[in-house]
Amino acid sequence: MTSKTNLTINSQRLWDHLMHTAQMGGTPKGGIKRLTVSDEDKRVRDWFKAECESLGCKVEVDEVGNMFATRAGKHNHLKPIAMGSHLDTQPTGGKFDGVLGVLGALEAMRTLVDMNYETNAPIMIANWTNEEGSRFAPAMLCSGVYAGVFTPEFAWSREDRSGINLGDELVRIGYKGQHKAGAIKFGAMFELHIEQGPILEAEEKMIGVVTGVQGMRWYEVNVTGQESHTGATPMTLRKNALLAAAHMISAIDDIGFDHLPGVASVGLIENKPNSRNVVPGEVFFTVDLRHPDENVLDKMEAAFRQDIAEIADHCRVTFEEKCIWKSPAVQFAPELISCVRDGVAKAGFASRDMASGAGHDAAYIARVAPTTMIFVPCLGGISHNEAESTTQEECAAGTQVLLNSVLAYDASLA
Ligand SMILES: [Zn+2]
Repeated sequence: MTSKTNLTINSQRLWDHLMHTAQMGGTPKGGIKRLTVSDEDKRVRDWFKAECESLGCKVEVDEVGNMFATRAGKHNHLKPIAMGSHLDTQPTGGKFDGVLGVLGALEAMRTLVDMNYETNAPIMIANWTNEEGSRFAPAMLCSGVYAGVFTPEFAWSREDRSGINLGDELVRIGYKGQHKAGAIKFGAMFELHIEQGPILEAEEKMIGVVTGVQGMRWYEVNVTGQESHTGATPMTLRKNALLAAAHMISAIDDIGFDHLPGVASVGLIENKPNSRNVVPGEVFFTVDLRHPDENVLDKMEAAFRQDIAEIADHCRVTFEEKCIWKSPAVQFAPELISCVRDGVAKAGFASRDMASGAGHDAAYIARVAPTTMIFVPCLGGISHNEAESTTQEECAAGTQVLLNSVLAYDASLA
């Protein structure tokens, strides 16, 4: 047994595994189509299971297909330290979203085995079923079941567009396991993932130390004015719903700038009757507000409601607004974030703190276990796209930080 803690992952081996598994559902444009619980997903799961078993790990599957590969430690009464993400992809997905988090974990595990390094706690790799939500909505479905957000029955009953449900598909591919969801416990989880945004690349930082996932709130707004003839209705007498909506959209954009790093967006708008010589009478649009801090998100929401009321008044139109979806901000575990900081410092990479702009399995797992994430850059911030690209060096850097962070946490358990 070695007591060395400067274990170095094998960058080429990691890259070879990323490229090898990218063939399981590989697309002509260089991406991956590996929808959850499909034949391609079964292939990569079988490969992953065999690799883990060849490393001496015990592989267990729960009733919603979540996979857990565990290597014993010195003190097996301690809860395992998990590393995990997802092997499923979008229909036109890239090679790194999710996959890096699982194969990086596998490389970290392999490094421990190669060095015959004995950790205090058992070490685990988790592969979460249906993170993408593309075939079966919603996203992050089975990490959600694990965390008690959804029931297993709800997950099994989700149907794809051809009417096939998740439960039947799990049975068909042989991954409806015996264990109750949530019964396979761990004491902490680290998720390595590509950033899926442009910040690290723009700032030339190798590692994002992720402090949480931003809160998200979605709204729908209907603005009602009065349809009238554009030639015959003087400017002063109009009730122009589209003009009011335009002012509202501009005000919503300002709310984003007033609450940075928050973001405020209008992405969908319908104008009625949408005719060149009719003053618009009815407009529908959607609003998406996000911020890492729920208190600031409350302020953004209050500003949004006040602004649209004032604008409607000024434009002599009426409106209805409703919040249709809320996802609260998640703060990751400070003790794990500090292990990631140690891991980054040890590896000597440039880093910055950031909140995740997208949802991840880690956001649900954080409800039931101390959790955090590590980000690496992706070219142009592009993800959910076959052109998604992260370099071998970046994948290796994130994986090294993942291993360092797990070892830092493990040392704290000694
Ligand atoms: Zn992902």
